[in-house]
Amino acid sequence: MRGAVLHAPGDVRVEDRPDPKIEQPTDAVIRLAATCVCGSDLWPYRGIEDVTGPAPMGHEYVGVVEEVGSEVRDIRPGQFVVGSFFASDNTCEICRAGYQPSCPHAEIMGTLGAQAEYLRVPLADGTLVATPDTPSDDLVPSLLAASDVLGTGWFGAVAAEAGPGKTVAVVGDGAVGLLGMLAASQLGAERIIAMSRHEPRQQLAREFGATDIVTERGNEGVAAIKEMTNGFGAHSVIEAVGTQESMMQAINSTRPGGHVGYVGVSHDVSLPGLPLFFSHVHLHGGPAPVRRFLPELIDLITRREIDPGKVFDLTLPLNQAAEGYRAMDERRAIKTLLTP
Ligand SMILES: [Zn+2]
Repeated sequence: MRGAVLHAPGDVRVEDRPDPKIEQPTDAVIRLAATCVCGSDLWPYRGIEDVTGPAPMGHEYVGVVEEVGSEVRDIRPGQFVVGSFFASDNTCEICRAGYQPSCPHAEIMGTLGAQAEYLRVPLADGTLVATPDTPSDDLVPSLLAASDVLGTGWFGAVAAEAGPGKTVAVVGDGAVGLLGMLAASQLGAERIIAMSRHEPRQQLAREFGATDIVTERGNEGVAAIKEMTNGFGAHSVIEAVGTQESMMQAINSTRPGGHVGYVGVSHDVSLPGLPLFFSHVHLHGGPAPVRRFLPELIDLITRREIDPGKVFDLTLPLNQAAEGYRAMDERRAIKTLLTP
Protein backbone atom coordinates (compact mmCIF):
# COMPACT_ATOMS: atom_id res chain seq x y z
CA MET A 1 0.00 0.00 0.00
CA ARG A 2 0.95 3.67 -0.25
CA GLY A 3 1.64 5.68 2.90
CA ALA A 4 3.30 8.92 4.04
CA VAL A 5 6.70 8.60 5.71
CA LEU A 6 8.73 11.40 7.33
CA HIS A 7 12.43 10.89 6.57
CA ALA A 8 13.81 14.13 8.00
CA PRO A 9 12.44 17.57 8.90
CA GLY A 10 10.67 18.94 5.82
CA ASP A 11 10.98 15.62 3.96
CA VAL A 12 7.67 13.74 3.73
CA ARG A 13 7.39 11.09 1.02
CA VAL A 14 4.52 8.87 -0.01
CA GLU A 15 5.98 5.45 -0.67
CA ASP A 16 5.22 1.73 -0.56
CA ARG A 17 4.67 0.43 2.95
CA PRO A 18 3.78 -3.13 4.03
CA ASP A 19 0.04 -3.88 3.99
CA PRO A 20 -1.21 -3.92 7.60
CA LYS A 21 -2.35 -7.31 8.86
CA ILE A 22 -4.23 -8.57 11.90
CA GLU A 23 -1.46 -9.06 14.48
CA GLN A 24 -3.51 -9.45 17.66
CA PRO A 25 -6.93 -11.12 17.94
CA THR A 26 -8.34 -7.75 19.10
CA ASP A 27 -7.15 -5.86 15.96
CA ALA A 28 -9.10 -4.58 12.99
CA VAL A 29 -7.76 -3.48 9.63
CA ILE A 30 -9.60 -0.61 7.96
CA ARG A 31 -9.49 0.83 4.45
CA LEU A 32 -9.26 4.59 4.86
CA ALA A 33 -11.94 6.78 3.33
CA ALA A 34 -10.00 9.92 4.29
CA THR A 35 -7.10 10.99 6.46
CA CYS A 36 -5.41 14.31 7.16
CA VAL A 37 -2.41 16.28 8.39
CA CYS A 38 -2.49 17.42 12.02
CA GLY A 39 -0.96 20.55 13.52
CA SER A 40 0.97 18.18 15.80
CA ASP A 41 2.49 16.50 12.70
CA LEU A 42 4.18 19.85 12.08
CA TRP A 43 6.29 19.58 15.26
CA PRO A 44 8.51 16.78 13.83
CA TYR A 45 8.10 18.18 10.30
CA ARG A 46 9.65 21.43 11.52
CA GLY A 47 12.37 19.57 13.45
CA ILE A 48 11.07 20.87 16.80
CA GLU A 49 10.55 17.21 17.75
CA ASP A 50 13.39 14.83 16.87
CA VAL A 51 13.01 12.72 13.76
CA THR A 52 14.83 9.44 14.29
CA GLY A 53 14.80 7.62 11.00
CA PRO A 54 11.88 7.12 8.61
CA ALA A 55 8.57 7.38 10.51
CA PRO A 56 5.08 6.53 9.18
CA MET A 57 2.86 9.57 9.73
CA GLY A 58 -0.76 10.30 10.57
CA HIS A 59 -3.19 9.51 13.39
CA GLU A 60 -6.57 10.76 12.13
CA TYR A 61 -8.74 8.28 10.27
CA VAL A 62 -12.17 7.18 9.12
CA GLY A 63 -12.85 4.22 6.91
CA VAL A 64 -14.45 0.88 6.27
CA VAL A 65 -13.57 -2.22 8.25
CA GLU A 66 -11.90 -4.83 6.03
CA GLU A 67 -11.06 -7.53 8.53
CA VAL A 68 -11.24 -8.16 12.29
CA GLY A 69 -9.35 -10.48 14.65
CA SER A 70 -10.93 -13.53 16.28
CA GLU A 71 -11.68 -11.74 19.60
CA VAL A 72 -13.37 -8.67 18.10
CA ARG A 73 -17.07 -8.81 19.03
CA ASP A 74 -18.78 -5.52 18.18
CA ILE A 75 -16.91 -4.15 15.16
CA ARG A 76 -17.67 -5.99 11.91
CA PRO A 77 -16.31 -5.94 8.35
CA GLY A 78 -18.18 -3.48 6.15
CA GLN A 79 -18.92 -0.98 8.95
CA PHE A 80 -17.89 2.64 8.51
CA VAL A 81 -15.88 3.58 11.60
CA VAL A 82 -14.26 6.55 13.33
CA GLY A 83 -11.46 6.13 15.86
CA SER A 84 -9.24 8.37 17.92
CA PHE A 85 -5.49 8.86 17.99
CA PHE A 86 -5.11 6.56 21.00
CA ALA A 87 -6.28 2.99 20.88
CA SER A 88 -7.80 1.96 24.22
CA ASP A 89 -9.74 -0.95 25.69
CA ASN A 90 -12.60 1.34 26.81
CA THR A 91 -13.43 -1.07 29.65
CA CYS A 92 -10.89 -0.35 32.43
CA GLU A 93 -11.51 2.11 35.29
CA ILE A 94 -9.56 4.88 33.59
CA CYS A 95 -11.43 4.48 30.30
CA ARG A 96 -14.79 4.32 32.04
CA ALA A 97 -13.89 7.54 33.85
CA GLY A 98 -13.39 9.09 30.39
CA TYR A 99 -9.59 9.26 30.15
CA GLN A 100 -8.93 6.74 27.38
CA PRO A 101 -5.49 8.11 26.37
CA SER A 102 -4.27 7.11 29.86
CA CYS A 103 -5.67 3.57 29.55
CA PRO A 104 -3.00 1.11 30.72
CA HIS A 105 -3.45 -0.65 27.37
CA ALA A 106 -3.41 2.55 25.29
CA GLU A 107 -1.45 2.54 22.04
CA ILE A 108 -0.50 5.64 20.08
CA MET A 109 -2.01 5.42 16.59
CA GLY A 110 0.53 7.84 15.11
CA THR A 111 3.26 5.20 15.11
CA LEU A 112 1.05 2.98 12.92
CA GLY A 113 0.74 5.70 10.27
CA ALA A 114 -2.82 6.64 9.31
CA GLN A 115 -1.76 8.73 6.30
CA ALA A 116 -2.03 5.60 4.19
CA GLU A 117 -4.47 3.42 2.28
CA TYR A 118 -4.95 0.90 5.11
CA LEU A 119 -4.50 1.00 8.88
CA ARG A 120 -4.29 -1.59 11.64
CA VAL A 121 -6.36 -0.51 14.65
CA PRO A 122 -5.52 -2.23 17.95
CA LEU A 123 -8.27 -2.93 20.52
CA ALA A 124 -10.87 -2.45 17.79
CA ASP A 125 -13.93 -2.87 20.03
CA GLY A 126 -12.69 -0.23 22.44
CA THR A 127 -11.17 2.17 19.93
CA LEU A 128 -13.62 2.32 17.03
CA VAL A 129 -17.14 3.71 16.87
CA ALA A 130 -19.31 2.71 13.90
CA THR A 131 -21.60 5.24 12.23
CA PRO A 132 -25.31 4.32 12.10
CA ASP A 133 -25.16 3.86 8.29
CA THR A 134 -22.55 4.31 5.59
CA PRO A 135 -22.35 8.12 5.54
CA SER A 136 -22.80 10.14 2.38
CA ASP A 137 -19.54 11.52 0.96
CA ASP A 138 -20.19 15.07 2.13
CA LEU A 139 -20.22 13.93 5.78
CA VAL A 140 -16.80 12.25 5.58
CA PRO A 141 -14.72 15.40 6.29
CA SER A 142 -16.74 16.16 9.43
CA LEU A 143 -16.46 12.56 10.66
CA LEU A 144 -12.71 12.74 10.02
CA ALA A 145 -12.56 15.96 12.06
CA ALA A 146 -14.21 14.07 14.94
CA SER A 147 -11.22 11.67 14.95
CA ASP A 148 -9.00 14.36 16.46
CA VAL A 149 -9.43 18.10 16.01
CA LEU A 150 -13.13 18.25 16.86
CA GLY A 151 -12.74 15.83 19.75
CA THR A 152 -9.72 17.75 20.99
CA GLY A 153 -11.42 21.14 20.73
CA TRP A 154 -14.44 19.63 22.46
CA PHE A 155 -12.31 18.37 25.35
CA GLY A 156 -10.69 21.83 25.57
CA ALA A 157 -14.14 23.37 25.97
CA VAL A 158 -15.30 20.73 28.48
CA ALA A 159 -12.07 21.02 30.49
CA ALA A 160 -12.50 24.81 30.51
CA GLU A 161 -16.08 24.25 31.73
CA ALA A 162 -17.60 26.23 28.87
CA GLY A 163 -21.36 26.49 29.30
CA PRO A 164 -24.38 28.75 29.67
CA GLY A 165 -23.61 32.19 31.07
CA LYS A 166 -19.88 31.76 30.48
CA THR A 167 -17.46 33.93 28.56
CA VAL A 168 -15.01 31.65 26.76
CA ALA A 169 -11.73 32.89 25.27
CA VAL A 170 -9.78 30.72 22.83
CA VAL A 171 -6.01 31.03 22.42
CA GLY A 172 -5.02 29.60 19.03
CA ASP A 173 -6.81 29.82 15.70
CA GLY A 174 -5.71 26.49 14.21
CA ALA A 175 -8.22 23.73 13.57
CA VAL A 176 -8.38 22.73 17.26
CA GLY A 177 -8.92 26.30 18.48
CA LEU A 178 -11.59 26.91 15.85
CA LEU A 179 -13.42 23.71 16.76
CA GLY A 180 -13.07 24.59 20.44
CA MET A 181 -15.20 27.61 19.55
CA LEU A 182 -17.75 25.35 17.88
CA ALA A 183 -17.76 23.16 20.99
CA ALA A 184 -18.16 26.14 23.34
CA SER A 185 -21.07 27.31 21.21
CA GLN A 186 -22.73 23.86 21.31
CA LEU A 187 -22.21 23.74 25.09
CA GLY A 188 -24.17 26.98 25.38
CA ALA A 189 -21.47 29.58 26.09
CA GLU A 190 -22.79 33.11 26.13
CA ARG A 191 -19.79 34.87 24.65
CA ILE A 192 -16.90 33.35 22.69
CA ILE A 193 -13.78 35.41 22.10
CA ALA A 194 -11.44 34.22 19.34
CA MET A 195 -7.85 35.35 19.72
CA SER A 196 -6.77 35.49 16.08
CA ARG A 197 -5.01 37.85 13.72
CA HIS A 198 -5.69 35.95 10.49
CA GLU A 199 -8.63 37.22 8.46
CA PRO A 200 -9.84 33.89 6.91
CA ARG A 201 -9.60 32.19 10.30
CA GLN A 202 -11.54 35.00 11.98
CA GLN A 203 -14.31 34.42 9.45
CA LEU A 204 -14.42 30.69 10.17
CA ALA A 205 -14.30 31.47 13.90
CA ARG A 206 -17.50 33.52 13.50
CA GLU A 207 -19.14 30.70 11.52
CA PHE A 208 -18.32 28.34 14.40
CA GLY A 209 -19.85 30.67 17.00
CA ALA A 210 -17.24 33.28 17.99
CA THR A 211 -18.94 36.52 19.04
CA ASP A 212 -15.80 38.66 19.41
CA ILE A 213 -12.30 38.77 17.93
CA VAL A 214 -9.16 39.89 19.76
CA THR A 215 -6.12 40.39 17.52
CA GLU A 216 -3.61 41.24 20.25
CA ARG A 217 -1.33 38.60 21.77
CA GLY A 218 0.61 38.15 24.98
CA ASN A 219 0.07 40.81 27.66
CA GLU A 220 -1.84 43.02 25.22
CA GLY A 221 -4.16 40.12 24.47
CA VAL A 222 -4.68 39.55 28.19
CA ALA A 223 -5.46 43.26 28.69
CA ALA A 224 -8.02 43.14 25.86
CA ILE A 225 -9.79 40.12 27.41
CA LYS A 226 -9.86 41.82 30.82
CA GLU A 227 -11.26 45.01 29.32
CA MET A 228 -14.10 42.99 27.78
CA THR A 229 -14.93 41.23 31.07
CA ASN A 230 -15.17 44.03 33.65
CA GLY A 231 -11.49 43.59 34.44
CA PHE A 232 -11.98 40.01 35.69
CA GLY A 233 -10.92 37.82 32.77
CA ALA A 234 -12.84 35.06 31.00
CA HIS A 235 -14.60 32.29 32.93
CA SER A 236 -13.18 29.67 30.57
CA VAL A 237 -10.11 29.72 28.37
CA ILE A 238 -9.19 27.08 25.80
CA GLU A 239 -5.45 26.88 25.13
CA ALA A 240 -4.84 25.29 21.71
CA VAL A 241 -1.21 26.04 20.86
CA GLY A 242 1.19 24.53 23.43
CA THR A 243 3.89 27.19 23.83
CA GLN A 244 5.03 29.12 26.89
CA GLU A 245 3.49 32.31 25.50
CA SER A 246 0.12 30.74 24.69
CA MET A 247 -0.11 28.94 28.04
CA MET A 248 0.63 32.12 30.02
CA GLN A 249 -1.76 34.07 27.81
CA ALA A 250 -4.44 31.51 28.65
CA ILE A 251 -3.77 31.48 32.41
CA ASN A 252 -3.55 35.27 32.64
CA SER A 253 -6.77 35.72 30.64
CA THR A 254 -8.73 33.58 33.11
CA ARG A 255 -10.55 35.08 36.09
CA PRO A 256 -10.00 33.78 39.64
CA GLY A 257 -12.07 30.64 40.01
CA GLY A 258 -12.11 30.17 36.23
CA HIS A 259 -10.89 27.21 34.19
CA VAL A 260 -8.21 26.70 31.56
CA GLY A 261 -8.64 23.72 29.23
CA TYR A 262 -5.25 23.12 27.64
CA VAL A 263 -5.08 20.88 24.59
CA GLY A 264 -2.13 22.26 22.59
CA VAL A 265 0.69 19.70 22.85
CA SER A 266 3.03 21.24 25.41
CA HIS A 267 6.50 22.16 24.12
CA ASP A 268 9.03 23.56 26.61
CA VAL A 269 6.32 25.07 28.80
CA SER A 270 7.23 25.70 32.44
CA LEU A 271 4.73 27.30 34.77
CA PRO A 272 5.83 29.82 37.41
CA GLY A 273 4.66 28.59 40.82
CA LEU A 274 3.93 31.82 42.64
CA PRO A 275 1.79 33.57 39.99
CA LEU A 276 -0.04 30.26 39.53
CA PHE A 277 -0.58 30.02 43.31
CA PHE A 278 -2.18 33.45 43.45
CA SER A 279 -4.18 33.06 40.22
CA HIS A 280 -6.90 30.80 41.68
CA VAL A 281 -7.22 29.28 38.21
CA HIS A 282 -8.15 25.62 37.53
CA LEU A 283 -5.93 23.89 34.99
CA HIS A 284 -7.10 20.76 33.21
CA GLY A 285 -6.06 19.33 29.88
CA GLY A 286 -3.77 16.91 28.12
CA PRO A 287 -4.20 14.53 25.20
CA ALA A 288 -7.92 14.67 24.54
CA PRO A 289 -10.00 11.61 25.39
CA VAL A 290 -11.65 11.83 21.97
CA ARG A 291 -13.16 8.36 22.44
CA ARG A 292 -15.27 9.73 25.32
CA PHE A 293 -16.97 12.19 22.97
CA LEU A 294 -17.12 10.17 19.72
CA PRO A 295 -20.67 8.76 20.04
CA GLU A 296 -22.09 12.22 20.76
CA LEU A 297 -20.02 13.91 18.03
CA ILE A 298 -20.94 11.29 15.41
CA ASP A 299 -24.59 11.80 16.32
CA LEU A 300 -24.36 15.61 15.95
CA ILE A 301 -22.59 15.22 12.59
CA THR A 302 -24.88 12.59 11.08
CA ARG A 303 -27.91 14.67 12.12
CA ARG A 304 -26.16 17.60 10.39
CA GLU A 305 -26.31 19.83 13.45
CA ILE A 306 -22.61 20.71 13.20
CA ASP A 307 -20.26 20.96 10.22
CA PRO A 308 -16.72 20.74 11.64
CA GLY A 309 -15.43 19.53 8.24
CA LYS A 310 -15.26 23.20 7.25
CA VAL A 311 -11.79 23.32 8.86
CA PHE A 312 -10.44 21.41 5.83
CA ASP A 313 -9.58 24.15 3.36
CA LEU A 314 -7.29 22.01 1.22
CA THR A 315 -8.00 18.53 -0.18
CA LEU A 316 -5.28 16.59 -1.96
CA PRO A 317 -4.72 13.01 -3.07
CA LEU A 318 -2.60 11.06 -0.56
CA ASN A 319 0.25 11.01 -3.10
CA GLN A 320 0.57 14.79 -2.66
CA ALA A 321 0.91 14.65 1.13
CA ALA A 322 4.20 16.58 0.93
CA GLU A 323 2.36 19.59 -0.51
CA GLY A 324 -0.29 19.21 2.20
CA TYR A 325 2.39 19.51 4.88
CA ARG A 326 4.04 22.48 3.14
CA ALA A 327 0.74 24.35 2.84
CA MET A 328 0.05 23.96 6.57
CA ASP A 329 3.63 24.75 7.56
CA GLU A 330 3.45 27.99 5.58
CA ARG A 331 -0.05 28.69 6.97
CA ARG A 332 -1.51 28.69 3.46
CA ALA A 333 -3.93 26.01 4.69
CA ILE A 334 -5.65 25.54 8.05
CA LYS A 335 -5.89 21.76 7.59
CA THR A 336 -5.23 19.39 4.72
CA LEU A 337 -7.50 16.43 3.98
CA LEU A 338 -5.86 13.55 2.10
CA THR A 339 -7.82 11.09 -0.03
CA PRO A 340 -6.17 7.66 -0.35
ZN1 LIG B 1 -8.72 1.36 29.42
